[in-house]
Amino acid sequence: MKTIGMIGGMSWESSAEYYKLVNEGIHQALGGVHSAKSVMVSVDFAEIETLQKNGRWEEATRMMIDAARQVESAGADFLMICTNTMHKMAEEVQAAIQIPLLHIADAAAAAVLEQGIHTVGLLGTRFTMQGDFYKRRLADKFGLKVHTPVAADQDIVHDIIYEELVVGKILPASKVAYQKIILNLADQGAEGVILGCTEIGLLVKQSDCSLPLFDTTLLHAQAAVQYALKA
Ligand code: GLU
Repeated sequence: MKTIGMIGGMSWESSAEYYKLVNEGIHQALGGVHSAKSVMVSVDFAEIETLQKNGRWEEATRMMIDAARQVESAGADFLMICTNTMHKMAEEVQAAIQIPLLHIADAAAAAVLEQGIHTVGLLGTRFTMQGDFYKRRLADKFGLKVHTPVAADQDIVHDIIYEELVVGKILPASKVAYQKIILNLADQGAEGVILGCTEIGLLVKQSDCSLPLFDTTLLHAQAAVQYALKA
């Protein structure tokens, strides 16, 4: 079994899910008392959030590279960045280490295509919805057509992530707001929606929506389990 490497803490609420999911996945695959071999370097999200808010992406990239190198030197066989937003610097991180980076958007896109879906909605932080690092990968590498919410809906999605989900607040009113935004994406033509922020799955479940949802935390963790067990 390979050792899974993770950069966590963005936020720790979702990193805890990752830890649980990879262990459950290995246990399901191997049975007995098996669990995942893993290393996690967990950052202080307050530092990351400040850099994001102020557009200090070069410093944020340096932080991700430092964390990735720590994960690598701790013995991980591959790396996962346990957040969608911080894949903004995925290429720079990959270039700075020898072990492979398992990209979160690839795990999501593979699941979307598996369901025969080619037009998806994308929910995430404003950085993920507005930047092109994520949408371009979905489009160029997987041929997906990607819809993002209208500006007012993007504000709601973003604010709920940063004001509630990253500090463990799961509010029914916010779930209703997300359900409405998902319906709006369906009206725009989305056949499914990528939950492109690793905390959204804590708020919205598949049972809350009729449109297929693609939870990036779950899909990324499943991809890690598969990769860890591959010969
Ligand atoms: N976990 C979130 C994501 O998947 C947001 C936190 C962050 O900015 O990294 O994008």
